Amino acid sequence: MSFIELDKKAYFHNLKTLSQKVGGVDKLAVVLKDNAYGHGLVEMAILACEFGIKRAIVRNLDEAKKIQKYFENILILYSYNTQPNKKLSFTINSLHDISKLDKNSSIHLKIDTGMNRNGISFLEIEKAFYLISQKELKLDGVMTHFRSADEDSDDLFWQINQWQQAKKQVIKFIKKYKFKKPLFHSANSATILRVKTYEDDFARCGIATYGYTELLHDNTPLKPVLSLWGEKIGSRVLKKGERVGYGGVFKASKDMVISTYDIGYGDGFFRYDGTGCLTTANSSKILGRVSMDSMSIESDDEQICIFDDAKKLSKYFHTISYDILTKLSPSIKRIIV
Ligand SMILES: *Cc1c(COP(=O)(O)O)cnc(C)c1O
Repeated sequence: MSFIELDKKAYFHNLKTLSQKVGGVDKLAVVLKDNAYGHGLVEMAILACEFGIKRAIVRNLDEAKKIQKYFENILILYSYNTQPNKKLSFTINSLHDISKLDKNSSIHLKIDTGMNRNGISFLEIEKAFYLISQKELKLDGVMTHFRSADEDSDDLFWQINQWQQAKKQVIKFIKKYKFKKPLFHSANSATILRVKTYEDDFARCGIATYGYTELLHDNTPLKPVLSLWGEKIGSRVLKKGERVGYGGVFKASKDMVISTYDIGYGDGFFRYDGTGCLTTANSSKILGRVSMDSMSIESDDEQICIFDDAKKLSKYFHTISYDILTKLSPSIKRIIV
């Protein structure tokens, strides 16, 4: 059976590197949304907890419930539950979200500082404070998200400036409405790797904890955590001139030993069409089209590492490492090594 290996040493190395950048492990929140970027939600939560991480960020309530015992606080980005829960905080992406929660719920208010995706505008900050106090919600955090953290431009620094203006407004209204000072947070992985010092209370790191960045210029030594392994279904000798797989796209130019392995596009691996030159981690050639549940490779090893560097694969498919990783099927067995 195919499986995914999770390298604990690599993960701890990344968490240590990032903790140092943000100013301590208490200032590092791990983003575990989307099945921990395809790595395996519970497995990564257990490891993060063992390392000493106290905060996690997920997409919905379902993910939060599966891992709440491992953290002090979990911030949910896009779903709501009216029952207050000591450990769970909810993101307010618009003024309307305030009506979705009941008294005493913990919230983090998102302010839009230039992405124009989620969050309230500068002009809505006072209204938000008014509605939050009316509903007696607990404003535990105020946050924003940067649009160009991993672009090769200074746009990030323009937006950090916008964020600083937003924080000033928030501090003004905190006094007026007699709220406690909330936790401020803004940075994702790329931001942490680009700013000299990080001033907010914590950072929300996803991709870098898994060992990647999409930055053009970055020499932070991060280590990929995940590798995808296939197991051999069977071997055969392909004679010169014979073809393999759908459409017979690959044609042998010599006699060769090939094997079929139990990973395909049904497992979330990209459907390679066999026309280029895609190889496995140990440089064995993938032959012809990838099928739904299998692929043919020039190898006769019992097990083969399909990839251990999502960045390389993402370049091949003209996408980003996030995309390669999050697609991996949750049903593949995860093994921590
Ligand atoms: C996904 C996400 C992050 C993490 O981004 P990375 O680039 O993976 O570090 C941070 N903040 C928010 C709001 C997100 O949705």
